[in-house]
Formats: sequence, C-alpha cells, structure tokens
Amino acid sequence: MAVLALDIGATKFAAGRVGADGRVSAVRRAPVPADGVWEACRALLLEVADGAPVAAVGIGSAGPVDVPAGVTGPLNIPQWRAGFPIVAAVDELFPDAAVRFAIDGACLALAEQYSGALRGLRNGLAMTVSSGIGGGILVDGRVVLGRSGNAGHIGHIVVPEWDVPCACGGVGCVEAVASGISSARWAREQGWRGGTGAELARDARAGDQIALAALERAGTALGRAISSAAALLDVDTVVVGGGFADSGEPLWAPMRAALARHAGLNFLRGLRVEQSRLAEGATLRGAAILAAGLPLPE
Ligand SMILES: [Zn+2]
Repeated sequence: MAVLALDIGATKFAAGRVGADGRVSAVRRAPVPADGVWEACRALLLEVADGAPVAAVGIGSAGPVDVPAGVTGPLNIPQWRAGFPIVAAVDELFPDAAVRFAIDGACLALAEQYSGALRGLRNGLAMTVSSGIGGGILVDGRVVLGRSGNAGHIGHIVVPEWDVPCACGGVGCVEAVASGISSARWAREQGWRGGTGAELARDARAGDQIALAALERAGTALGRAISSAAALLDVDTVVVGGGFADSGEPLWAPMRAALARHAGLNFLRGLRVEQSRLAEGATLRGAAILAAGLPLPE
C-alpha cells in the first residue's frame, strides 16, 4: 500500500511517496494551471501512486483553509479561492485512503519539529518568507491548528508605519510590506528597475541604494512581526525559511535590529531567530509526516 504526500502551493503542486520513516521519494512537481486546477492535481497524484493501492494521503495547502470542512481556498489560486473540497476530491480518487489535511504553515512547523531547527523543542515558530509570508506554531510540544486550521497566519500580523493594502482585504499586514513580491513592488515605485525578490537581493548585495532600502524596510517589518508573535506565544526559537529569507545581511541585519528594539520583555531576551536549513520541500515533508501519522519526536 502506498502513502502519498501532496503540497498545494500558490504556483505549483508537489507530490511524492512516503516511506515508513516519513521521508518522501519519487517527488513530482507540476505548475498550478489557470483552469483545470483539480485535473492537474489529480493527474499528479495518479502519476505518483503509479497504480498502487493508496493507504493514506497527507495534504498541505496554501491558505486560507477550512480544515473541519476539508476545503482549501488559496488566495493565489483564483479558481479555488472561493473554496475547493480537496478532502472529498482526494477521497473519491482513493476511496480506501485515510486523508489528512492541514495548512502549509502547520506542515512547515511539523517538518522543522521532526528534522529542522525546532527538533527537540516544545515551543517555536516556523516561518516562510518568499512571494508570501506564512507560518506555523509549536506550543507545548504540539503544532497548533486553531479553530479552522488557520493558526500561524503570521503574514497578516499588522506592522506599524506602513498602511499598505494587503491581498487578504486588510491593510498594513507584514506580507504586504515584507514579502519578496511586496518588497520588489515598493522598490519599483522608488525607481528600481528589477522584477523579483531574488533580483532585489542580488542588487542589494551589489550596493544598489534602493534595493538596500527595500530590504531594510522588509527586515524591519519582519523583526516587528516576529517580536509581536514571540511575545504572544512565549517561544524560544523562530526559524525563517523561504527564498526571500535567503537575502542575507541586507535583510537580516535590520530584522535583528528591530527585534533588539521591540522585543523588550525578559522572557524574550534569549529568543533565537535563525534561518531554516530545510530546503524547498519542507511543506511536502510536513504533509508526509501527517500522512504517515508518525509519533512526535523525543
Ligand atoms: Zn493581510
């Protein structure tokens, strides 16, 4: 019997076979199309299953989600934004499989807890900073899911100073200020001529003044959001992954400066903020842990 893991990202699907130890193999990826989103996802799952009977499927999805209803509604997948019944669809595809479903941020926290910077810890926050900003919370040894499965949406913590409209419908969210896309947009408004967050980081390292200012703005906003979250949750480690987190000192130095300025409480003095060592497949790894139903690590 096969056990499968599925990662529903904003722009691509990833799926793989899960071993008894929770590791993922035979990983396949496919872009999320504008139309026929489920058909593309279904084809990828069938390819990975390769005709074997399926015992379990673990699904990690970009949010927001409605886990009790088994529905996903990623902001960046227009065809699914109003809600797609992913659990029922996978159930129909593999009727004998146990289907387990969580938001990608919770999967990220699980992956960091099993094999990353949160291993052996009982309280931590896992974040991803890329085209969007997301996260998952580990409190008292458990990954927190929340009422609807959306706990950990750190991208929509509001940061002072910047009243930027956010894709969520709100204003001033850290994702609207500090994600790769938001930072690149702000830099272009100041006259920078590049396109992506990765180009922005490259230009900052080369000394471009607008790119440096954009990363300082992003790092400051991230540091403020992290210090708010850490004060609320009483965590000892925050691990930050995602492509834009790879921007180096132009992002991390202002982030640390904002933390030093804002995280004033005694219990936050020893707060560690570090870069994730897990590569691109962290959400898929978390979905695999979900699918395998592994016991919590010691
Ligand atoms: Zn928002």
